[in-house]
Amino acid sequence: MDMEWTTTRRRPTRRIMLGKVPIGDGAPVTVQSMTTTKTADVDATLAQIYALAGAGADIVRCTCNEEAAAEGLARIVPRSPVPIVADIHFHHEMAMAALEAGVHGLRLNPGNLRKPEEIKQIAAEAKDRGVPIRVGVNAGSLHPDLYRQFGGATPEALVESARIELAYFAEVGFDDVKISVKASSVPLMIEAYRLASATFDHPLHLGVTEAGPPPAGLLKGTAGIATLLAEGIGDTIRYSLTADPVEEARAGRQLLEALGLRERKNLDLIACPSCGRAEIDVIAVAKAAQEALEDRQLPIQVAVMGCVVNGPGEARGADLGIAAGRHRGHLFIKGKIVRVVPEDEMVDALVAEAERLVAEGVEARLAAADAGAEAAAEADRRALLDDRGDDANASEVRVDLIRKKFGEERKPHGG
Ligand code: SF4
Repeated sequence: MDMEWTTTRRRPTRRIMLGKVPIGDGAPVTVQSMTTTKTADVDATLAQIYALAGAGADIVRCTCNEEAAAEGLARIVPRSPVPIVADIHFHHEMAMAALEAGVHGLRLNPGNLRKPEEIKQIAAEAKDRGVPIRVGVNAGSLHPDLYRQFGGATPEALVESARIELAYFAEVGFDDVKISVKASSVPLMIEAYRLASATFDHPLHLGVTEAGPPPAGLLKGTAGIATLLAEGIGDTIRYSLTADPVEEARAGRQLLEALGLRERKNLDLIACPSCGRAEIDVIAVAKAAQEALEDRQLPIQVAVMGCVVNGPGEARGADLGIAAGRHRGHLFIKGKIVRVVPEDEMVDALVAEAERLVAEGVEARLAAADAGAEAAAEADRRALLDDRGDDANASEVRVDLIRKKFGEERKPHGG
């Protein structure tokens, strides 16, 4: 709902347009992903593109590795809900065919598409058609000359590769470009992008390449992408996971929402880690709530808290939450108790309130709070505090036992 915090200001970049989607110069940071189907299989590829767009992808890339793929692109582009970028390696004729197919963007790899005349021919054609190109440098496929010159795939070598490509483009007056300098090493990727950001004013496409399967792949991607975004670097992002690409799109969207760079479109479920005070199985209730709420695509933050003693206060920033105590659920909006329900109705009550909250807004739902809900909740809270005191984990008892144990050990032997 309302967004109070965001990350640092974005580094200024120039603007490019991928179809109708702007990139750079203050445009919202966008999410990209790539299809895993054969591009020639139009129906399967379009089905995946729709799934990716539904999961949060603003732009989708498809490989264009053979003539049948280029023909597929010609059929996919007019039916796609998002701009399509053709991924080109080695073959300049595939780039020319993709342009003919009407794609909204190209990605060229300077490491394997090396002939200057071919690069310039592609750039000249892209210029005539108003199609932007991503200079997609990759540490794993760096041009061998640069590898030798820099003694490896260093940040300087990756940036130099992009600079050389831009110089070829400049010869034909083409500058409608975004740049990526990806690596599978997170520290290398971070340094390369920092250097690229200091060197160029073109928009940057961020990614940790070949990050592997989740969860490690997600962590690597997040470590690299989030670090740079928090520094104001990056205009569009892609997670590269060995997984269903829908997971990439979802992760990209969630990262941008978490950083306050995109408005929340989906549910953000937070849950307490649980502790000795927990009155319910927090993991099970959080899972049930997530499943029930996720399908409804409600753009709110919902908290599931294990106890009524601390839950509503700890999660007062959440739009909506539920906390458990004395076999009842306390439903709260922005930390204010609005309803007390039997424990077995907690999840249903949460879902019903979430739908009303999205439809009617916070103020209206606070005004519709049950009379007496606050008082009933406070009674539960007090009763629990009386039962268990402030020290639910019995830490003081434990500390006494530990002290006694050490005291015994300190006693002289045989004494
Ligand atoms: S909300 Fe309650 S159960 Fe959850 S961690 Fe906090 S004190 Fe523990």
